[in-house]
Amino acid sequence: MSTNWTEVLKDISEVARQSLHNLVIENTPPLPQCYEREFIEVASDMKKEAILQEVLTDQEHIKIKLKSILTSAGDTFQQTQKILQDFEADAQRSLALLEKEFADISEFVKKLDKKKSEQLDRNMDSFLDTGGEYTRRIASAMLDIGKYQEKLDLLSKQIDQDHLTGVYNRRAWEHDIKEICREANRDAQTDKGFCVAMLDIDHFKKINDLHGHPIGDAILKQFGAMIKNHFTATGSVYRYGGDEFAVIMPGMTIKEVESHLKTLRSQLAKTVFIARQGKTRINITISCGIAQWNPGSEEEMVIQNADDALYEAKEAGRNCIRTEM
Ligand code: GH3
Ligand code: MG
Repeated sequence: MSTNWTEVLKDISEVARQSLHNLVIENTPPLPQCYEREFIEVASDMKKEAILQEVLTDQEHIKIKLKSILTSAGDTFQQTQKILQDFEADAQRSLALLEKEFADISEFVKKLDKKKSEQLDRNMDSFLDTGGEYTRRIASAMLDIGKYQEKLDLLSKQIDQDHLTGVYNRRAWEHDIKEICREANRDAQTDKGFCVAMLDIDHFKKINDLHGHPIGDAILKQFGAMIKNHFTATGSVYRYGGDEFAVIMPGMTIKEVESHLKTLRSQLAKTVFIARQGKTRINITISCGIAQWNPGSEEEMVIQNADDALYEAKEAGRNCIRTEM
């Protein structure tokens, strides 16, 4: 078997290198000149600065240092390059992922918008349909409200109106006389007084007895219309009960009211009440009592005074006017 010299040399070289390594550890230069270069290399690899300082000249030391710096700079450069390459690869992967995500989102948004706008269109159509229906319903409700308002106005009129004669009824009288009295007492300083007149048809019972109740009604109706018209601008007329009427005249003196009533009586004297299509023609007379409201007094007082004055007119033979202060 032939000797493998290459292997032998390799072994020798390894033994020598190990010995140099040990020498470096033990820090035992100087060496034979022929080992010096290898020794320096091993010491340099082992970073034994102190030994190198001893065995090297300054220039050689600088060379070694520079070599070591360059080696480490090369390592750092390689590492940095590797990091940068890794980073670039990562960045490209991330970019690709982002692009994919973005494409997916864009697609999603496109679909979403389409769906949404379709839904919006459907909602709008349904809203318009419903809106139209509601508009129709509102218009119809407005019509109903208008009709109800008319009915309400009519009812509120009727509630205060005497259905036979068309003047205000007893309910309105009781409310209004209280109210005007309260106002007059509140504004007593401003001299806003009022008068009350009571008017009663003379011997009305006889008319009923003679011509019948329906004709009596017809006369009450015509008389009501006549006095309502007569006092339109000066006062409010109420049916107090039966054939008796009351008039409230604000801001008037007893004399002014008396003058008004005189005019009415003279008109009445000239008036013929017609019933049964003109077959029945009746004249009537009235008796009147007037009273003026006294500051500080309640409504009962002025009503009582007007009633007393009316009683006096009846007592005096009817068809006349009496006043009470
Ligand atoms: P005086 O001059 O004293 O007032 O006599 P009079 O007959 O008018 O008075 P009296 O109080 O005796 O009679 C009133 C009559 O009025 C009696 C009643 O039948 C009648 N009367 C009351 N309300 C109505 C009505 O709504 N319709 C008709 N037709 N008559 C009525
Ligand atoms: Mg009467």
